[in-house]
Amino acid sequence: MKLAKITKRAIMTTMKTHKKGYKALYLLIILSLLTPAFASASHSWGGYHWYRSINPLSLNLGDNVSSQWDAYLGEASSDWSVSEVIDTTVIKGGTTPRICSAKTGKVEICNASYGNNGWLGIATIWINGLHITKGTVKVNDTYFSKSYYNKPEWKRLVMCQEVGHIFGLSHQDENNYNTPLGSCMDYSSNPVPNQHPNAHDYEQLLSIYSHLDAVLGATSQQSLFGRYAAMNAGDLNVNDLQNEIKELRDQKISSMERKLGSGEKVVTFIYWADNSDN
Ligand SMILES: [Zn+2]
Ligand SMILES: [Zn+2]
Repeated sequence: MKLAKITKRAIMTTMKTHKKGYKALYLLIILSLLTPAFASASHSWGGYHWYRSINPLSLNLGDNVSSQWDAYLGEASSDWSVSEVIDTTVIKGGTTPRICSAKTGKVEICNASYGNNGWLGIATIWINGLHITKGTVKVNDTYFSKSYYNKPEWKRLVMCQEVGHIFGLSHQDENNYNTPLGSCMDYSSNPVPNQHPNAHDYEQLLSIYSHLDAVLGATSQQSLFGRYAAMNAGDLNVNDLQNEIKELRDQKISSMERKLGSGEKVVTFIYWADNSDN
């Protein structure tokens, strides 16, 4: 981004010194310079990552999904495990899908009919300092049972994206109507090209997880997880969160970070339904 700005400024300055006839040419140059800069922009959310002293990060995904979702969860797990720094395994779930709360150090993946609240999927990660302490993914059958979204390509895209958020990835792009980037971390009205991670997602994971954290004793592990991570999602004002989500829906805001105190935060990523009627 910074580089793109500097480049733009340099070109604008050059433009001023030239005649108007060259304007179109310079615009073309600007576009060709800026496009790759945006495409390679970082989509790490705050540099947050799971604590680990060796790579790959070994993360279990708790399966609380029904049989209609099992294949998509399995695929998301293997898609992301292509990354040399990520290794996920689907295990038996530890929560009820409707509540979908994760214990410290755990990830739970859930589906249910969560209602006409506007969202297809929500991923939530809890943070202590820079480290992710737990995460949950919910996919909303209220929409996935309707003909528009009840398609393998939509289910694959949303599951892939929500699981991607659990590692600390944000979106590559949030415009539904531009050319799809070929990544499940990209919004698109056409889900077909965006059903899996792309090379840029794997590059981003490499840069987030290239460092290793120190080996910790039991006491330090306690402080690593912090105070709030020990709480259940139910303790964390799910009602407050739902009210916030209603406010964000009008503005189509798709990620938010809330401070919980003492360096702890919760980040929520929301995939809004673009077509909620059919
Ligand atoms: Zn670290
Ligand atoms: Zn998302």
